[in-house]
Amino acid sequence: MAVPKKRKSKQKSRQGKAGKAPLTILKSTPCPNCGAQTLPHRICGNCGHYNGRVHSLKAIPEEKQA
Ligand SMILES: [Zn+2]
Repeated sequence: MAVPKKRKSKQKSRQGKAGKAPLTILKSTPCPNCGAQTLPHRICGNCGHYNGRVHSLKAIPEEKQA
């Protein structure tokens, strides 16, 4: 059985996979906190909420930041 001589780098293997991958359209979901369209499993860019919690300092008023 043929054995690869050298390990393929992450970049090279990903380049090969990227050529075969179908182009997908990014789906967006409304944020449960503010209703803005956000990507699923990402922090909301508008209010900084994810999974019911604030994850971004942008969402907290500056006087409350410590
Ligand atoms: Zn939001």
